[in-house]
Amino acid sequence: MDQILFKRFGYSTFRTGQRETIESLLSGQHTLAMLPTGTGKSLCYQLPAYLLPGSVLVVSPLLSLMQDQVEQLKMRGEKSVAALNSFLSFEERQQVIRRLASYRFIFLSPEMLMSEQVIQALGKVRLSLFVVDEAHCISQWGHDFRPDYRLLGEVRKRLGNPLTLALTATATAEVRRDIIRYLRIGQVQEWIFSVDRPNIAMSVEHLSSYDDKQKRLLSLARQLEKPGIVYFSSKRATEEGANWLRQHGGGRVAFYHGGMEQEDRILIQQQFLRDELDIICATSAFGMGVNKENIRFVIHYHLPAQLESYLQEIGRAGRDGGRALSILLYTPGDEGLHSMIAQAEFPSDSQVSGYLSFSDSQSEETQAAALQLTDVQLRFLRHYVQEAKRLGLTNLAEYVAAKREERLAQKEEKRLAMLRWVWTKKCRRETALSYFDEQLESRPGNCCDICGLEWTEYKQQHLQKTAEELNWQAVLSSLLQIER
Ligand code: ADP
Repeated sequence: MDQILFKRFGYSTFRTGQRETIESLLSGQHTLAMLPTGTGKSLCYQLPAYLLPGSVLVVSPLLSLMQDQVEQLKMRGEKSVAALNSFLSFEERQQVIRRLASYRFIFLSPEMLMSEQVIQALGKVRLSLFVVDEAHCISQWGHDFRPDYRLLGEVRKRLGNPLTLALTATATAEVRRDIIRYLRIGQVQEWIFSVDRPNIAMSVEHLSSYDDKQKRLLSLARQLEKPGIVYFSSKRATEEGANWLRQHGGGRVAFYHGGMEQEDRILIQQQFLRDELDIICATSAFGMGVNKENIRFVIHYHLPAQLESYLQEIGRAGRDGGRALSILLYTPGDEGLHSMIAQAEFPSDSQVSGYLSFSDSQSEETQAAALQLTDVQLRFLRHYVQEAKRLGLTNLAEYVAAKREERLAQKEEKRLAMLRWVWTKKCRRETALSYFDEQLESRPGNCCDICGLEWTEYKQQHLQKTAEELNWQAVLSSLLQIER
């Protein structure tokens, strides 16, 4: 193991959890590994690939993440890599499928599992390891539930119960139980490492208006050591935020979101990696697979939808082990935005009935275009309509609508947990960890704004005082509005 780590990957030591996970796999045990973001989860399946006789299959939910992992392997001189996803043309896909058994690494997007042809081809491959990346996507309690992931258990069974590795960075105990149950991997070795990143200090600032928030962002951009990321919850806000900072002397700033051309996104990413930019104003699309070690701060301009994504996003800072700062700027009413975003994520009643009234002869693309369905809405519809049919239900629309309401209620619960964390008077680190059923073992020096921060270039505002001075009525009514 150590030799391969050095020769193939050029590293001299394993990082937290890597050795344990790899050893457990090499001794033939199904393994669930929860390792903090940025520690190098990919190595846990990349290294065993050189010690096991057959191919390694990796199911990964995000195309950009998959492309990134493929590129990384290729850069290391590994040529035997295939990625089966919707980026491929029909001919390319057929070619990959024909040669499937010859690859050392096979990456697969979950929707490919719906193809009988792909599953049959996989059946002929000598699989040494079946990897489920971002395994929390299998649970509806996970922050990024992907209905397609539910098919994985069935597929695993059809492939003869191969040795399995489930990887995640943030999963509550409940989500971990779901992962094991849905993957149908009875006996499993679990390696759970803390989600805590002690070198990242946490701070929340309560601001009374958007105007104040904008000004505060600018002063932070000027004060803080860079580079840094500012997360926004909409594409437009990233552009506005970046323009505002640029125009007011906030440094070398660019924006990044999923709606940009691929070429532009790559360009911005590279500029940031080369330290040619100080600040990126981004949506959550930025960060996965971006391995920049020296990020010194992460600011959240809007409230993250849940603690899971908050921790993942702040986890992009301080990967070099140096101290880093995460600041959440909160204005009462911010939570209302998420309610709207969550609603828009699922198909509306008219989209559901529109989808159901199409005849089977029309392609899904045509339907999606006619009904203005997003990818996520389409996936949701496809999955639950099929499920309702499998269950022999007659009222398909009612079933899909009930599933939508269920998902919205879960999202709401997560949002409230996030909000409780914002308003807590207890240590933020402890509160966040207890959400993951973890206890804080030792409190780092610069823990959080509640415990007190000593940070010369970060002059906190009078947080608690400001928070108490805020108009509670406004906060409550905005909360009740979501509840209604
Ligand atoms: P994540 O856990 O977020 O999926 P990645 O697998 O993308 O992380 O790895 C993050 C970075 O850590 C990569 O740049 C990778 O090359 C590096 N890395 C992984 N393992 C080690 C190691 N043992 N020593 C040094 N760097 C490592």
